[in-house]
Amino acid sequence: MPSSYQAPSRKDKQQATTHSQSSSTNTTKETATVGKILASKGNDLFALRPQNTLHEAVEMLRDKRIGALVVKNSEGGLQGILSERDIVRKLAETPGQTLAQKVEDVMTTNVEVCHPDDALITVLRKMTEGRFRHMPVIDDGNLVGIVTIGDVVNYRLNELEYEALQLKQLIVG
Ligand code: AMP
Repeated sequence: MPSSYQAPSRKDKQQATTHSQSSSTNTTKETATVGKILASKGNDLFALRPQNTLHEAVEMLRDKRIGALVVKNSEGGLQGILSERDIVRKLAETPGQTLAQKVEDVMTTNVEVCHPDDALITVLRKMTEGRFRHMPVIDDGNLVGIVTIGDVVNYRLNELEYEALQLKQLIVG
């Protein structure tokens, strides 16, 4: 311990705390948002039309290596979402007759969406409560991307790793 070190005592005034000791600098952290995820993964959005068949949908899911597709109307507006879960459910209900069915008859129409400024924790909570893993992102009425539960968890893991590294550097010097 350096000889100049003075252990804090009760008579120390509040303003005597250093910058790194202040509660605001220790607790203030930039909020992780949906927009940050889109900035790193991009705005790629794979979409179908309601009249496409499930056969076309499964081909797109395979080619793009993804788990869900947004369904857009003729104006480009969000009309639904079709995930691999919907297709599996249909396969069980109508064996041998599923792939010719139209996307609009199988998709979910009541879609929960998020905004680029939404905090990741809010989005994660909505996904967990609603039991779905995809959320289209809407900004100013336009579809600007999609975030998955995997993106959110991955972003948070990277953040945790970075925080751990910062702590380690603080301790080791
Ligand atoms: P997922 O876990 O995303 O594969 O989807 C599970 C179920 O939830 C499927 O029936 C999807 O159509 C539906 N679903 C997926 N994303 C959403 C969403 N953002 N809002 C509402 N339903 C969704």
